[in-house]
Amino acid sequence: MKDVLLIKYGEIALRGDNRALFEKALIYNIRAALTRYGNFWVTKEQGRFLLETESDMDYSYFIPRLLDVFGVVGVCAAVKCDGKSMESVLAAAERSVLAGYGEGVSGTFKVETRRADKSFPMGGNDLSAAVGEFLLGRFPGLRVDVREPEMTVRVEIRTRAYVYAREFPGQRGLPYGSGGKAAALLSGGIDSPVAAYLTARRGVTIECVYFHSPPFVSERAKEKVRDIGGALSRFMPGLRLYAVPFTETQLYLKERVARERLTTFLKRAMLSCAAVIARRSGALALVTGDSIGQVASQTLESINAIDSAAGMPVIRPLAAMDKNETTAIAERIGTYEISIRPYEDCCTVFVAEHPETKPKRGVIEAIEGGLAELPGLIENAAAGAEILEL
Ligand code: ATP
Ligand code: MG
Repeated sequence: MKDVLLIKYGEIALRGDNRALFEKALIYNIRAALTRYGNFWVTKEQGRFLLETESDMDYSYFIPRLLDVFGVVGVCAAVKCDGKSMESVLAAAERSVLAGYGEGVSGTFKVETRRADKSFPMGGNDLSAAVGEFLLGRFPGLRVDVREPEMTVRVEIRTRAYVYAREFPGQRGLPYGSGGKAAALLSGGIDSPVAAYLTARRGVTIECVYFHSPPFVSERAKEKVRDIGGALSRFMPGLRLYAVPFTETQLYLKERVARERLTTFLKRAMLSCAAVIARRSGALALVTGDSIGQVASQTLESINAIDSAAGMPVIRPLAAMDKNETTAIAERIGTYEISIRPYEDCCTVFVAEHPETKPKRGVIEAIEGGLAELPGLIENAAAGAEILEL
């Protein structure tokens, strides 16, 4: 009998011919996330990955790290049975309940059996009933409730038999790095980190781009964005964050366009500059945290007037989400607390009291066409981007 981890990966199992590639990418990422631990090995076990260690299993090391790996649907603290006998399954059931809930376990439970390998001498229902009866006898605090149990003990008969009483939900999604690359515009706000996270969760490698405008925006704002990048790197190993010096471009636009249109031009300049950085690093798309209607610059008209500056697809994962849905994700992934951190920001010089909510794309593009120095300023800004240590 041995403590192991069973790793569930859902969606990638559905992807036909790509399946082998995705499994390979996921195993690679799982191993990479655990490199600081010495002796462990990950093998395939009929639609699951099995993680075993040479010495005692250290759940507190492995589980939190596995739960941050995109593509992992769930992590089960399982006991691997010595054989496929009834006695070994019962012993494993006892051990898994003890490990998950302790000797004093109480409340309702049920047992579910899955027979991926049909060679086990007993049917699934009979096996569940026998394990249930055994646990009732062994732990006096337990009661059976098959409809809404507080604890589900699962028996899986595969190449070997496994039992687990606790499963931890993972991030789901697709293995990071398996779906191309995009550049995410990361501000210090709540939305853009969530947009970057959601895109990365589809397997897309992310490079973050932050536009910094000192002295109108403080150094602390930059620190904040860096901290957000650090929080995101938990899910995105090797994440890079570019800080782009944007003051000159901002001042140039401020002096030449109508105040109520400034945001539209600034956003276009940001997309255009981010696209330069994206192309340089082989990224195929941009990602922003825009949500339709949230502010003047995020109405459908504004999005239409801004989008054409990118010259590449702009992915807006939050376009159709409510703020509370975004906030819930931000809290779960650990960026919310950083995003709401206050910092003294004096960039009101760039904000109009009544920004235009329905800019016309043709008009905006025509005005922009007359701003002869703008392309050069944008190129300069991109060339001056520095990579921040996360
Ligand atoms: P967020 O919460 O992400 O800051 P927001 O609701 O404040 O978004 P805006 O300020 O209109 O919205 O910005 C919309 C999007 O433009 C942001 O989600 C982000 O992707 C991008 N963006 C805005 N400011 C910056 C910046 N200084 N650097 C990089 N990207 C930015
Ligand atoms: Mg913002």
